[in-house]
Amino acid sequence: VRVGVVRESTGGERRVALVPGAVAELVGRGIDVVVESGAGDGSLLPDGLYSAAGAAIGDAWAADVVVKVAPPTAEEVTRLRSGQVLIGFLAPRGADNRIGELDAAGVRAFAVESIPRISRAQAMDALSSQANVAGYRAVLLAASLSTRFFPMLTTAAGTVKPASALVLGVGVAGLQALATAKRLGARTTGYDVRPEVAEQVRSVGAKWLDLGIDAAGEGGYARELTEQERDTQQKELEKAISGFDVVITTALVPGMPAPRLVTAAAVEGMRPGSVVVDLAGETGGNCELTEPGQTVVRHGVTVASPLNLPATMPEHASELYAKNVTSLLELLITDGALAPDLDDEIVAGALVTGKEG
Ligand code: NAD
Repeated sequence: VRVGVVRESTGGERRVALVPGAVAELVGRGIDVVVESGAGDGSLLPDGLYSAAGAAIGDAWAADVVVKVAPPTAEEVTRLRSGQVLIGFLAPRGADNRIGELDAAGVRAFAVESIPRISRAQAMDALSSQANVAGYRAVLLAASLSTRFFPMLTTAAGTVKPASALVLGVGVAGLQALATAKRLGARTTGYDVRPEVAEQVRSVGAKWLDLGIDAAGEGGYARELTEQERDTQQKELEKAISGFDVVITTALVPGMPAPRLVTAAAVEGMRPGSVVVDLAGETGGNCELTEPGQTVVRHGVTVASPLNLPATMPEHASELYAKNVTSLLELLITDGALAPDLDDEIVAGALVTGKEG
């Protein structure tokens, strides 16, 4: 079987699906790898490193299995042919996903977002590996936009109070944000609608904000709040948020628009110079004043909505993603041949085309 690593064409996407170390591992298992010239450039991985790892440089789009990072563009879909396997972020729940087009083209597409989050699949969990990057970068962005220090400083020129940071929505990204803000010296607080998260929040040295709402849903995810719960939450958060220097939001409910947690009034209540970093911009944002992809200043508060933060740290983001991809490939390839076992719940879950038979 031949695996092709293509060059990403989406603007700003600097990640690559396989790094040379992962290529060497596949080659060692008897799998041919072909890399499109320049595929690793965004991650500072020149073609030479891929050749040295045993890959051919050539037409990766013609391989049996095409691996990539960002969802394919319309033009990219036309490069695929019937019977080929595609692995990548395919945004299957996104409004403008191309699953229908891939299906019509006869491509067997595996969406990393659809891999069931069971323990056996942890090494393939690209949502988690990239959410870790996003949570970390969100805090660094907040720190650089802030007019204040994160740590407490005692200097000859005076003492500076530590910043207080609130993280709303503590999944993988939120937990990493709490841990990162803590390492920078901030006093941290976490909030989520799944009560089981309280313990994880405390384990990274943060306080738990309890608003008395339990919205634990299926499969470890949150459910959408009722209208009344949402009103209560917004009002309670308005009060709580005014005391924080930094608010980082990561709240998501799969397949739904991002829940509105930070109202315009809450932003207005913050001290000028404070920062909101909203990681939910792609699905509309957790903050009412968020402009997806933009950084705006409202009432003296900076509201930033960076999109695709993992692409801004391409080296490690690609390295972690490559591990996720090789773990999935291991499941799809047996004795050097492509043999997806559709009775395996991971394989069946990840396959997003050909569902009707
Ligand atoms: P996510 O990115 O989908 O969502 C982020 C957080 O937002 C979640 O914690 C969610 O509860 C929270 N949220 C949703 N609506 C909210 C609201 N109205 N107010 C406040 N918070 C709200 O989350 P994720 O990082 O994908 O993680 C989701 C769950 O999956 C977690 O329990 C995580 O531990 C679990 N998980 C399990 C595995 C595994 O076992 N293999 C792997 C990864 C994640």
